Amino acid sequence: MFKVDRLRFGTAGIPLSTEKRSTVDGIKRVRELGLDAMELEFVRGVNMKPELAKKVRYVAKKHDVLLTAHAPYYINLNAAEKAKVEASKNRIIQSAERLYQAGGWSVVFHAGYYLKQPPESVYQRILEALRDIEKRLMDKGIKVWIRPELTGKPTQFGDLKEIVKLSEELEMVLPTIDFAHAHARNKGKCNSVEEWREMLAFMEDRLGREALDNMHIHMSGIDYTDKGEKRHLPLQESDMKWEDLLRVLKEFRVKGVVISESPNIEDDALLMKKKYEEIGA
Ligand SMILES: [Zn+2]
Repeated sequence: MFKVDRLRFGTAGIPLSTEKRSTVDGIKRVRELGLDAMELEFVRGVNMKPELAKKVRYVAKKHDVLLTAHAPYYINLNAAEKAKVEASKNRIIQSAERLYQAGGWSVVFHAGYYLKQPPESVYQRILEALRDIEKRLMDKGIKVWIRPELTGKPTQFGDLKEIVKLSEELEMVLPTIDFAHAHARNKGKCNSVEEWREMLAFMEDRLGREALDNMHIHMSGIDYTDKGEKRHLPLQESDMKWEDLLRVLKEFRVKGVVISESPNIEDDALLMKKKYEEIGA
């Protein structure tokens, strides 16, 4: 996996203000806006053809836009039926392959659901599935980070400890930290400098500097209940202390990418990038 030179900011998908809604135009628009990353949304299926991926690679490189991808939502590596687990694995593999062809860096996905089973046994099943995915990607020579996301509901597999543990055990795996999800999943916690310092220190302690030098972050405002995430909100209409979070990211010299998943995707990406640049080193 290639190294990322700094902390970049980008949009979850094609910016809303893109005139012609194509991936190539989206990348150009990201650059015009002054952003430097974009997440390809394969959330309803990997609908990008390999020929287009080659073109996307060229355009992203030319405009210095770092690409990540979000694998389909329809993934459950803990599904009861073996066929569903295999289909889920294939969706992750296909997302990684297409992203790699597009010159991208990191693919994120929601690993699965607990389905009321003991978290330890769910962990083992997901570990085994990811081990197989990693092996198959290595055999194909595909080099992108494979990232289980910190999820927004307590019924979804993927709290910080679980995804850090997977990252310890697997070579191509690192966490995607969705700070809005952490906040919603933990019923309003994870919204202070102390808690974020603790999260990042925990990652550095368990995974080394490599994890902080290669962070894949999701951010947005968020509305939540006792059941976790309800919906994403613009940062300034939410209770997220996002400016403090940016200070902590700078304090820990985090590199990688921050993807805005707010409903106003590029506005909040720009808001964060500008604020981040104002903070003294
Ligand atoms: Zn996600």
